[in-house]
Parts: sequence; C-alpha cells; structure tokens
Amino acid sequence: MNDRLSLTSLFPRCLTTCLYIWTAYITLTRIHQIPRWFLALTIVPTLAVALYTYYKVIARGPGSPLDFPDLLVHDLKAAENGLELPPEYMSKRCLTLKHDGRFRVCQICHVWKPDRCHHCSSCDVCILKMDHHCPWFAECTGFKNQKFFIQFLMYTTLYAFLVLIYTYYELGTWFNSGSFNRELIDFHLLGVALLAVAVFISVLAFTCFSIYQVCKNQTTIEVHGMRRYRRDLEILNDSYGTNEHLENIFDLGSSMANWQDIMGTSWLEWILPIETFKYKKSKHTKDEKGLYFNVRPQVQDRLLSSRCLEDQLLRRVTPRPSLEADRASVEIIGAN
Ligand SMILES: [Zn+2]
Ligand SMILES: [Zn+2]
Repeated sequence: MNDRLSLTSLFPRCLTTCLYIWTAYITLTRIHQIPRWFLALTIVPTLAVALYTYYKVIARGPGSPLDFPDLLVHDLKAAENGLELPPEYMSKRCLTLKHDGRFRVCQICHVWKPDRCHHCSSCDVCILKMDHHCPWFAECTGFKNQKFFIQFLMYTTLYAFLVLIYTYYELGTWFNSGSFNRELIDFHLLGVALLAVAVFISVLAFTCFSIYQVCKNQTTIEVHGMRRYRRDLEILNDSYGTNEHLENIFDLGSSMANWQDIMGTSWLEWILPIETFKYKKSKHTKDEKGLYFNVRPQVQDRLLSSRCLEDQLLRRVTPRPSLEADRASVEIIGAN
C-alpha cells in the first residue's frame, strides 16, 4: 500500500491493463467468421467489468488496522506486558491471542492486530483479514477488497473463455479452409489464442480455489500457514477441548452462509462490483470493518464458558509480574 505509485507497482498494473486491451483489440479486429456486433456485445462488457474490478481491488485496498487511530499502540513495551490494552470492542471480540494470553501487537506498525490480521512484508503494513499479496495487482487482498478480487477472477475467467473460443473458432476455420497453403497464419491472433488458453486454465483453477475458500470462510494464510496460525490459536486449543472444526473457527456452518458473509446476501451483490448492503448499513459502526468476526453460536458459547479462557483472560488483563506484587500488597493491607 505504501508503494502505490512506485515503478514496482506501476509495471504489473500497466502490463495487466495492456494485455487486456491488446487481446480485446485483436479479437475485435482480426476475427471475421463471427459478426463484429456479437463480438463487441460479449467482449466489451466483460472486459470493462474485469478491468473495473481490477482497479477497484487496488483503489479500495485491503484495509489496515492503521486506518483506526484507536488501534495504535502508544507504548510497545507496556502493550507486550499487558499494561496497555486494545480498545474494548477488540478485547471483547478478539479470539486469537498470543501464547502468553496477551493480545497480538505488530512490532513494526505499532498497532494492535485484530483476528486474521497479518503484516505484509511486501506492503510493509498490517492488513486486515489478509489473504495474500498479489504481484499482478502489486497489492494485498484482504477484508475490504476480497469481494472485488473474487469478482475480478470470475470475470477474467469468463473473458479468457470468450477470447479462447472466438480465436480458436477463427483459427480452426482458417485451417480447415486450407488457407495455410496460400497465406501465413495471423501471428497476433495465434498469440492471443495461446495466451487465452494459458490464462483460462490458470485463472480458472485459481478462481475455483478462491471460491472454495470463500465457501469455507478461510483465507490463504489460514490454509497454508495453519501450523503458524495454530500457535496463535493455542488458547482456543485449550478451551475447545476437541479438534472438531478447530482449524477454522470462522466457518459459519454452511457454504452459503460463508459465501453471503463475504459476497453479500443477494445475487445482485454477487455479480455487480458494488459494496455489500450490510457494509453500507454498518458504515457508522465498528461492525463489518474486519476488526472482529462472527463465529457460530456453539463456538462462541464454548469459548465463553471455558474456564481455561477465563484464566487466559485474567492473565492478559493482569500482568504476571505485577499480579504477585498485587497479592503481596493485598496481604500487607490485610495484615494491617
Ligand atoms: Zn504490521
Ligand atoms: Zn501486501
């Protein structure tokens, strides 16, 4: 996010945009077997939405805890020792803690890290509900732009599919008519056709994987970095008692509930690159900002009823060294 206008961020963005426009231009001008109006009617809107969602992912950004002044840590040492605490909305709803029961703090950004927040080494900033850093965007995907990223993948898959079938139809017709005996193949069209196959196969696979993740309500970091992530969940491990569903406490119970949680509740929100209605409704509250997440009632109940978690909560609100000192002072007061 810091390098939005640097060369390293401009290069992949310009390259991606140029590839889209070049493939559309070649498809519209070098194909003669399909009516041009039909090509334009299918290619142009798909290209427009794909490019719009591409830039929406960048413009919207993934969201950072640094956007919330009340999450800034004033004294890093005090925060590490449990003397400084995060705002109440976070301390009440936060589910992932450190080994010692303290809240997670970013040593680089000097900020409290909500659940699912991670520091991106490429952006050099903490990202809310970080999924991954995408080099094609030169941007992270996270809480705020996840929906647009999924839509970008879906529309890019559709765009690559359309270009693929049109170019192969044209090349197939040219080949079957025996034109290769009289003239050279159109290398621009061949290049676009080969690119379309490569993009279609790779993006389709990634789209399927991303939709699967949305339906599981699980980020790429949570899938691939589970071992490290599990360490953050130590307290949940203790309190949960069983490994059932432990690896994904943010799973709301069904694929549709998970999908709607990220993509919105209506099909219009799923296909149009607009903000979800629930985000608009909660614009003036702390809800739907990636600072805390809903979990299933069973998970919530078990967490709240757990004695172990209570102990951990006590540990995090009362620093261990001063706890002994407090006890000593209470004893002295009692003796007096
Ligand atoms: Zn950070
Ligand atoms: Zn990043």
